[in-house]
Amino acid sequence: MSRVYNFSAGPAVLPEEVLQAAADEMMDYQGCGMSVMEMSHRSKVYDQIIKEAEADLRDLMNIPDNYKVLFLQGGASQFFAEVPMNMMKNKKAGYIITGQWAKKAYQEAKIYGEAVELASSADETFSYIPDCSDLPITDDMDYVYICENNTIYGTKFKTLPNTKGKILVSDVSSCFLSEPIDVTKYGVVYGGVQKNIGPAGVVIAIIREDLITDDVLPGTPTMLKWKTQADNDSLYNTPPCYGIYICGKVFKWLKKMGGLEVMKQRNEEKAKVLYDFLDESKLFKGTVRPEDRSLMNVPFVTGDADLDAKFVKEAEAAGFVNLKGHRSVGGMRASIYNAMPKEGVEKLVAFMKKFEEENA
Ligand SMILES: *Cc1c(COP(=O)(O)O)cnc(C)c1O
Repeated sequence: MSRVYNFSAGPAVLPEEVLQAAADEMMDYQGCGMSVMEMSHRSKVYDQIIKEAEADLRDLMNIPDNYKVLFLQGGASQFFAEVPMNMMKNKKAGYIITGQWAKKAYQEAKIYGEAVELASSADETFSYIPDCSDLPITDDMDYVYICENNTIYGTKFKTLPNTKGKILVSDVSSCFLSEPIDVTKYGVVYGGVQKNIGPAGVVIAIIREDLITDDVLPGTPTMLKWKTQADNDSLYNTPPCYGIYICGKVFKWLKKMGGLEVMKQRNEEKAKVLYDFLDESKLFKGTVRPEDRSLMNVPFVTGDADLDAKFVKEAEAAGFVNLKGHRSVGGMRASIYNAMPKEGVEKLVAFMKKFEEENA
């Protein structure tokens, strides 16, 4: 077996321990003679898998009792529509545009009501987080929406915006479980799991109970109404069973690692190795304002598109894969999620140093 260092932005690297455990249980899950993929989602065995996953997530994130945890499908992109469908009582909401994912959510919301751009960092290719201390939030807005970690551009909200008392909705797809958060500061925290938690096909949404009601926009499909999912403990229909099972294994791995405080520390140390090198390198440069840098996604460039391409190609040959930047930014991007070992980043930096010497 030969594993590469996978810097993909998503679907992304998973802990080897988790993959191995899933492989061991593939043919026969704990003596039931079948794979988790083959069992009824209404079975006792599966009920324990999904209940335990929820309990472990609640434990990891310290989720208060007045928040529901939903395991959903449709990706984060479908949730862009679910937010206005379930929350736009006044048909008006504020969006902070910090990149493509925030913009897509904003455009989706416009289908359902008045989505107002409260702030944007589009003027500098989303390379920073705008000042959100005094936004033009009006009383009639149903919520304020952010994308907390911007996967493509490599920025992260280090402090949450001042929502002036309005409900905060946050897409945490690419920073989910990378550090502790205070769930009580949000109305809704959600994300697709394929960045930092598990296989594509699962969205986890943590929603304050009072926001889950029958009062949704007319025409909201049954499946997209949070109340349907909450009343049925995410088992209204067949959930993405296998994906949830893998997420559950990752939650157990995170607990074993010491929880989110420990992950935060590890992620900070790991990111520092790369950022410190980018700050001293004469060839490579980070593209993000230092104070807004993400711990998870690190975009960088040489300033020369041909050299960038050469780097990506040689890196791949050396076992460092998926380093090509998003097509809208160019250059490179190293995604260094929870499951990327520090050693992977150290070896990448050693490779970058060598490339810099060879191409000086
Ligand atoms: C990847 C990503 C999305 C889109 O996720 P899908 O599951 O593909 O719909 C949305 N938001 C953020 C922050 C992402 O990183």
